[in-house]
Amino acid sequence: MVFRKSVVAAMLAFCAAGFVMSTTALKAADFTAEQIAEGQKFIVNNALFILFHESGHMLVSELGLPVLGREEDAVDGLSGVMLLESVEDEFKAAMQDAADGWFLIDEAKGEGPQESDFIDTHGLDRQRAYSLVCMMSGADPDYFKTFIDSIQFPAERREECGGEYAKIRDSWFGLLEQHQDEQKTSKFTVTYEPANNADLQPFADLLQEAQVLEAIEATYGEGYDIPDGIKVTGKTCGTENAFWHEGSREITYCYEMAAYHAALMVNYFTNLNAPADPSVEQAEAPTPEAEANANSVKLKLKD
Ligand SMILES: [Zn+2]
Repeated sequence: MVFRKSVVAAMLAFCAAGFVMSTTALKAADFTAEQIAEGQKFIVNNALFILFHESGHMLVSELGLPVLGREEDAVDGLSGVMLLESVEDEFKAAMQDAADGWFLIDEAKGEGPQESDFIDTHGLDRQRAYSLVCMMSGADPDYFKTFIDSIQFPAERREECGGEYAKIRDSWFGLLEQHQDEQKTSKFTVTYEPANNADLQPFADLLQEAQVLEAIEATYGEGYDIPDGIKVTGKTCGTENAFWHEGSREITYCYEMAAYHAALMVNYFTNLNAPADPSVEQAEAPTPEAEANANSVKLKLKD
């Protein structure tokens, strides 16, 4: 995805409040303090989900785990389990932003799935979103009730989610149990490379400040029999993506991915602000479709 310059400037506004004030950035005042904080949290939480997804590929590769079904679906499941079963309440809450992330990506694409989406190794964006909602419902329906109610997730589907979630969780934990060793520590090398790009450096700073990459080491660095030397790297890649690379034993999170999630939030808040206060200067002149959809964007209430 190529962003128009005004969108890049607006994305930077999210980071400008806490980090770097770019001369090209829109005034942070274009968004409320709450929106800026929510935008930053959204970026960080989606990075967490993506990193734990990549950690699933890493575990399959490093531990030689069997995969039944599509690996991309399986490691979405692992990421969900790791966040939902974490003792850190922020990790659990991050699932809401991860689900919203896939809903917003789906809506941003607009015209519906193309042939290439059906051919892709990943599920459809909207399917991935609903899979996460189902896991949330299965793991803790009370904690996520406001969120799940807000997307009108059907009652009959919720009934299935408890059993489905337990199966995903028990399958992953059952496999990982065989590779657990309380005495073992595994060394990870966490690196935030300089972005070498003024537009992306604020995102590198945001991720580093939040210690996002360190979450992988914190989770797997003790108690698992994983060979030392796995690298977890943040860098500018030239594409908005994240990878596990078996040969170099490296999880890579591209700063462009954070910028992509920032752009989703910029569009969301821009649309949200537009009908309520038309006098506010907008990051983009909203298209007629965007205005029509301003209230239909699936960003849901947070607990
Ligand atoms: Zn993947």
